[in-house]
Amino acid sequence: MTQSSLFATYARADLKFEKGEGAWLTTQDNRRFLDFAAGIAVNSLGHAHPHLVQALKDQAEKLWHVSNLYDIPGQQRLGERLCAATFADKVFFTNSGTEALECAVKTARRFHYDAGSPERTTILTFEGAFHGRTLGMIAAGGQEKYLEGFGPKAPGFVQLADTDIDLVKAAIDETTAAVLIEPIQGEGGIREIEPPFLRALRTLCDESGVLLIFDEVQTGVGRTGQLFAYQEAGVEPDIMGIAKGIGGGFPMGACLATAHVAGAMVPGTHGSTYGGNPLAMAVGNAVLDVVLEEGFLPQVAQTGLILKQRLAGLVDSFPDLIEGIRGRGLLLGLKLSFPPAELLSACRDEGLLTVPAGDNVLRILPPLTVGQAEIDFALHALEQALTKVSASKANSHNK
Ligand SMILES: *Cc1c(COP(=O)(O)O)cnc(C)c1O
Repeated sequence: MTQSSLFATYARADLKFEKGEGAWLTTQDNRRFLDFAAGIAVNSLGHAHPHLVQALKDQAEKLWHVSNLYDIPGQQRLGERLCAATFADKVFFTNSGTEALECAVKTARRFHYDAGSPERTTILTFEGAFHGRTLGMIAAGGQEKYLEGFGPKAPGFVQLADTDIDLVKAAIDETTAAVLIEPIQGEGGIREIEPPFLRALRTLCDESGVLLIFDEVQTGVGRTGQLFAYQEAGVEPDIMGIAKGIGGGFPMGACLATAHVAGAMVPGTHGSTYGGNPLAMAVGNAVLDVVLEEGFLPQVAQTGLILKQRLAGLVDSFPDLIEGIRGRGLLLGLKLSFPPAELLSACRDEGLLTVPAGDNVLRILPPLTVGQAEIDFALHALEQALTKVSASKANSHNK
């Protein structure tokens, strides 16, 4: 092992990619991989999408950064387009998902403060949640493995064991500011929250003066076959964090809110040096150009259905290994009867990249532009990999 100058925070695979094109990645030593990880649901339009490359190049030749001391026309444009396409009236741009949620929580608390209820600071979250890695968001996610060794857990976050409306009702008191939830838990294992629960949550929040925050960092921007997952459930939040897909690989995020709630975020209450810089805005607008094109989202939904059916066929062939298929659109997961590491590595040997998640799930996250030939390749690779894992399990049983 050569000594690395990097923090050892990541368990990295020994692959060095040099080039990407569509759903495919090529390593420095010229091996090709089909990318069904998509940078963890980030490369929504695949690699080197010509429209995104052009937008970034054009902007790079004009202006990179000026800070939020000045108007940034690309922010106005992307903000207006996001608001036109969602429940929101106002947008704050960030550089990442976790910052989008930090802004969401600050906005919720400030709203109550402004409304004369400064005691409303508590955020209710759910078991299995993931909201990012800042000190605030590891407290929100509530996972011991992310909190351990990092000092006192930030106060003001209470985690509920289940998506049970009576549990939420019992947890709400005069200090509750908001409920924060992913409509589909991503890192937690592609766990879909039932729309009736989300609707009951909306009603309960309305009745008790509590705000509803959706974390659509992973589910958003077309991943589920809708622009946002909440649209399928027919429930609108007051505040929403997005990131990943909106940048198509350029680091950016956003906090969206209704005018009523965002009104409390007056000058000086929040800021970011880079957030919404011209490069990020050029790419974000270019991503929306493609995702909002007529027919794009129905195509994602259709491709998702086909892929899900094909994956379901694997459950029939490997019933001991796969317990079921989770998710919708192109946010899919194989629920396994064993930890996903072994299958992930067997897939990689077959030239297919995937992502592990909690709850023994292997996430399948193709670019939204994925085609039929690539799905065929992926299914063949998965079948080979599952056959290999199955044989190795039979072997270790017989020993
Ligand atoms: C990835 C993710 C985050 C954190 O986003 P970063 O850009 O890594 O900060 C937050 N919430 C969800 C649901 C995510 O999937």
